[in-house]
Amino acid sequence: MTIPDIIIAIDGYSSTGKSTFAKLVASEFGFLYLDSGAMYRGVTLAGLEAGVIADGKIDEEALLPVMAPLELHFQREDGATKLFLGERCIEKEIRGWEVSQYVSPVSAIPQVRAWVDDKLHKFSEGGRVIMDGRDIGTTVFPNAELKIFMTADPAVRAQRRYDELLLKGEKTTLEEVEANLKDRDYRDSHRPTSPLRQAPDAFVLDNTHMNLHEELVWMLGLLQGKFGLLESPGLSC
Ligand code: C5P
Repeated sequence: MTIPDIIIAIDGYSSTGKSTFAKLVASEFGFLYLDSGAMYRGVTLAGLEAGVIADGKIDEEALLPVMAPLELHFQREDGATKLFLGERCIEKEIRGWEVSQYVSPVSAIPQVRAWVDDKLHKFSEGGRVIMDGRDIGTTVFPNAELKIFMTADPAVRAQRRYDELLLKGEKTTLEEVEANLKDRDYRDSHRPTSPLRQAPDAFVLDNTHMNLHEELVWMLGLLQGKFGLLESPGLSC
């Protein structure tokens, strides 16, 4: 099935499986996948490494000159799109527990949002992009042709994230993970600049009781309905 060169914006709460879903749609239908959260995580990691984020505090003034020259970009490696800082792949470090604890307050800083938005627009210049985050359909690409808002039961999300962290060997508890998700959802929805909101024209995907295959079938139905494409291709999962 041929999908036109559109921009697909995926927003939603933390750990709703946005990136897994977006990556799958990207590979299934030939889109460039861009993870906007990774950019905020990259800035946070740089701040931690420069010592301007430490002991529960973010020195905003000192963070901005650290951020300005950062060469954050995405690169394909081993069949996956990964975040690089210059030559260095930082994909693993940005997913760690420490970055997760600081990333929401860092992403609430308006100058950080403006810097990341500018990069995201540059990365998307070729079009045919699927991007996930919190404000893609509302702020970054308000004119995206297709917007999806993902949600799931908070307990299910916490369990999924906890299982993921355990697999990576991170030492944490389900209670800590649940508290971190609640905290990030609250901060993301209540910050003054580009808060997490469902765009009025977004389609809601609640995947509490869905597996990836069911999500992909849902997407296919949406694309067929929206673009009037009738043939139904075989799906890879
Ligand atoms: O998607 P992910 O959980 O990796 O994003 C990390 C954090 O970055 C989120 O908790 C949120 O605070 C922030 N974020 C954002 N706007 C986006 C994407 C992520 O504020 N578009």
